[in-house]
Amino acid sequence: MSEYRTVIHLPDEAATLRLAEDIALALAPGDCLALSGDLGAGKSTLARGIIRAIAGDDRLEVPSPTFTLVQSYDLRVPVSHFDLYRLGSADELDELGLDEILETGAALVEWPERAEGTLPGDAISLFLTGGDEGRDIEISGTGPFLERFIRSRVARDFLDA
Ligand code: ADP
Repeated sequence: MSEYRTVIHLPDEAATLRLAEDIALALAPGDCLALSGDLGAGKSTLARGIIRAIAGDDRLEVPSPTFTLVQSYDLRVPVSHFDLYRLGSADELDELGLDEILETGAALVEWPERAEGTLPGDAISLFLTGGDEGRDIEISGTGPFLERFIRSRVARDFLDA
């Protein structure tokens, strides 16, 4: 699959949560999603929505792993939620065991830029921008996650039509 890139407008938080459901349907062990964007862009909302959708529980506690750096969830697809804002060095990411985690589960990584290029080369980029008029998200990368994601979007469009 060649490089895929799309921009989706998210007019409100509900739209972000619908996108989270589509991502959750597509997510599989080995997938690494890098969530970037300024403070307040909606990274945590999206990550929490994805984890809750996989859990099938929209009230599951999903605290920001700001101080622990990673929080793992033993779900249908095991998911580890990283917040690298306070990462000291790329070595520290090694110690958190990202490579091992990806052998059996998926990873959602907030503040991936703190890892200075040590994320897997096939990590999918989700870049949030915007302000008062909702948000835009640019999704780009290559690989099987995106093929599954495109199918889950097509299925939603079909069901919504
Ligand atoms: P970050 O983790 O990037 O700092 P948050 O996920 O905490 O950002 O989101 C900040 C605020 O933006 C929250 O109040 C959330 O409800 C709101 N928000 C999230 N997505 C959208 C959207 N698509 N449109 C408008 N507001 C949104």
